[in-house]
Amino acid sequence: MAETRHTKVLIIGSGPAGYTAGVYAARAMVEPILVQGIEPGGQLTTTTEVENWPGDTEVQGPDLMVRMEAHAKAMGCEVVGDIISSIDTSKRPFTCQSDSGTVYTADAVILATGARAKWLGLPSEEKFKGFGVSACATCDGFFYRGQEIVVIGGGNTAVEEALFLTNFASKVTLIHRRDELRAEKILQDRLFKNPKIEPLWFHQLEEVIGTENPNSVEAVKVRNVQTDEITEIPCKGVFVAIGHAPSNELVKDVLETHMGGYVITKPDSTETSIPGLFAAGDLTDYKYRQAVTSAGMGCMAALEAERFLADDE
Ligand code: FAD
Ligand code: NAP
Repeated sequence: MAETRHTKVLIIGSGPAGYTAGVYAARAMVEPILVQGIEPGGQLTTTTEVENWPGDTEVQGPDLMVRMEAHAKAMGCEVVGDIISSIDTSKRPFTCQSDSGTVYTADAVILATGARAKWLGLPSEEKFKGFGVSACATCDGFFYRGQEIVVIGGGNTAVEEALFLTNFASKVTLIHRRDELRAEKILQDRLFKNPKIEPLWFHQLEEVIGTENPNSVEAVKVRNVQTDEITEIPCKGVFVAIGHAPSNELVKDVLETHMGGYVITKPDSTETSIPGLFAAGDLTDYKYRQAVTSAGMGCMAALEAERFLADDE
């Protein structure tokens, strides 16, 4: 029979928002349970150097997340390796089903399910995913030593991925649909100074070309968005870095979202339209999407959950 566990505060997600909520909720003595999800540590586990986490001039993303987990546990937060598959928010305590079969009931829930990589949606992208097409340079860059690679996108992620990939690749072509990058100036400076990186402006990926059995990438077809001219660029790896979409699946039918699926919270608050249900981090944040802002919202959510429980009593 499925085990049922009750907690005053259930935190869903183990990125900076979730772990910070864990630290604060544990220190408020509400004995929180935090469910880590499919990506323990969240998005920062897919990057290398983080240079804007206050107090660390430079820290590896995965190391930072290991420290956050340890911090939450040390404060008394129980961290569980499980995935929440659904939430019933129609009555309290809220009931959360999980992949392990455990049913979690909670007086308050903090949603910190973050965001994940977007894909272009091309059939050839899907076909070569895991066989030359990737959305994580840290995970897969190593496979492309001495090879030519393309990166798609013009934001911080694309530029960081391109820079990181120069550690392995002989050449990195950054393909962007405009002639202006969205990435921060400091990253742009590094990109333009790097002799291994060549930007290709005003181009869109049309098709990934490769061989079958085993699947392997050989080139990409790109389209000039101004002239419609199609050209082919030989490459062994394609890194898609075109942004992230909020992981709102658990609540998209019960909570209002905006700006492409980000959960709406009350102004200056993590409260959602359902009392006792709080949302923090990238799940709600279409604007900043940073580790430090997510952590800040995790703190707010825990404090607001604690006050909600106190008022409830
Ligand atoms: P996330 O980190 O997205 O974590 C979400 C968590 O929710 C995950 O643990 C996941 O397993 C869990 N989850 C999802 N669904 C479920 C479910 N159904 N059940 C249970 N758990 C679930 N920001 C910076 O400030 N500095 C940087 O240098 C920086 N570099 C970055 C590099 C890359 C490559 C990327 C992708 C992002 C980077 N960011 C950086 C942004 C930063 O990682 C995010 O803003 C931050 O991680 C968001 O934190 P979060 O806690 O909201 O969610
Ligand atoms: P982003 O800032 O949304 O940038 C996405 C990029 O992909 C944009 O340049 C966009 O082009 C392009 N793009 C989107 N859809 C496309 C499509 N269908 N075809 C071609 N190109 C497409 O996403 P991100 O770079 O992943 O960053 C997400 C958040 O994480 C940001 O807030 C970022 O600051 C943060 N982050 C921070 C750091 C850091 O602080 N060091 C590192 C990584 C990420 P347009 O520019 O034309 O729209």
